[in-house]
Amino acid sequence: MKKKLVILGAGTGGTILANLLSKKDTGNLFDITVINANDKHVYQPGFLYIVFNRMQEEEILRPLRNLLHPKVNLIVDRATRIDPEKRVVYTENGEYRFDYLVIATGSRIVPEATPGFKEVGDWFYDLEGAKRLRDRLTEMKEGRIVISLIGIPHKCPVAIMEFTLMLHDCLTTKGKRDNIEIIYTYPLPRVQAIPTVAERIQEHFDQANIKVKTFFNVIEVDPEKKKVKTLEDEELEFDLLVGIPEHRGAQVLIDSGLSNKFGWVDVDRTHLNLEKYGNIFAIGDSTNLATSKAGSVAHYQAEVLADNLLSMAQGYGPIKRYNGETFCFIETSCHEATYITFDYNTPPFPAKPSKYIHWVKMSYNRLYWLTAKGIL
Ligand SMILES: Cc1cc2nc3c(=O)[nH]c(=O)nc-3n(C[C@H](O)[C@H](O)[C@H](O)COP(=O)(O)OP(=O)(O)OC[C@H]3O[C@@H](n4cnc5c(N)ncnc54)[C@H](O)[C@@H]3O)c2cc1C
Repeated sequence: MKKKLVILGAGTGGTILANLLSKKDTGNLFDITVINANDKHVYQPGFLYIVFNRMQEEEILRPLRNLLHPKVNLIVDRATRIDPEKRVVYTENGEYRFDYLVIATGSRIVPEATPGFKEVGDWFYDLEGAKRLRDRLTEMKEGRIVISLIGIPHKCPVAIMEFTLMLHDCLTTKGKRDNIEIIYTYPLPRVQAIPTVAERIQEHFDQANIKVKTFFNVIEVDPEKKKVKTLEDEELEFDLLVGIPEHRGAQVLIDSGLSNKFGWVDVDRTHLNLEKYGNIFAIGDSTNLATSKAGSVAHYQAEVLADNLLSMAQGYGPIKRYNGETFCFIETSCHEATYITFDYNTPPFPAKPSKYIHWVKMSYNRLYWLTAKGIL
């Protein structure tokens, strides 16, 4: 009898896994059901380019049905509870039994978690936020932009630095940079968590005259006085505040007791299963692993899990390990980029920035759809 595989969430990880497995499963071992809260797939790295009007909304959204292999059953519905013992996922409109479950519900931003931030702050971590910020930046002629990392962990740890350097470049091109001050704040004692990356990016910030405040943990925003307040008892005025808001995992995981109180799921770092349930796995942003919350991580994990699930369904157990592999491009301006690659044992060393790497990134922004289909 076919094994029932339910993949919860059809973002980067869930979509790649469903498509890879559909193609590899030549023996028809699996009946694959994907449950996603909406019928569109979003290429989230595109938000950064929406802000600077270098990509349009239509380029980063695709109907999910067109992306998924014809063999995959797509259910557009929101999961509300998972019963791991009964092996059932409950949604707002139905229930789905599983032999294997893969949690791929990603992470969500919670701007309201920081008092005052939602009222006056901006962000580019969802489509509406990115479009609003694009319009505000277009209107702004002078003043101070404060860019703050508010929540850890958050997805794409390098996006805040890319945004800052692209902003500098964009304002310079428009002749507005002399009248707009940029201040970058970060909660740790350097501009990025990874020392080798922080060192390289600090050089770029210095060249671009971007002021930096470290050990800056935002706890509150005063919408009237337009000031951020920190745990360290500092206050900083702004005309425009761009924050990376607090993140949480999916509510269904908290409500089902499968995660910690923030929604992150503990999994085995190489096989990605929950300790208590060998038939339940989590990939991508939803996990509590010490990896970046990045599309590349979800992609690498989906590749490992596709092969392991196939092997397990045949009774042979897992055959591959995920070793923390991560790849990130880092835009260092609107026309140059670098990249980093690392894993659990190897730290990243950023490559020398170049136009060539930038264009590879721009090309990947289009080629992503082949990755989602399990082709690239
Ligand atoms: C501005 C920005 C720039 C980025 N740049 C990069 C980059 O350059 N490189 C990179 O590697 N990564 C980048 N990322 C991060 C990357 O987009 C995410 O890490 C990646 O999408 C995570 O994949 P995922 O499958 O875990 O989750 P997601 O892709 O977020 O998908 C989760 C899916 O689960 C669904 N879902 C959630 N809850 C439920 C529920 N209860 N019921 C049903 N469905 C549910 C959601 O609707 C969604 O479709 C960036 C992110 C942002 C915001």
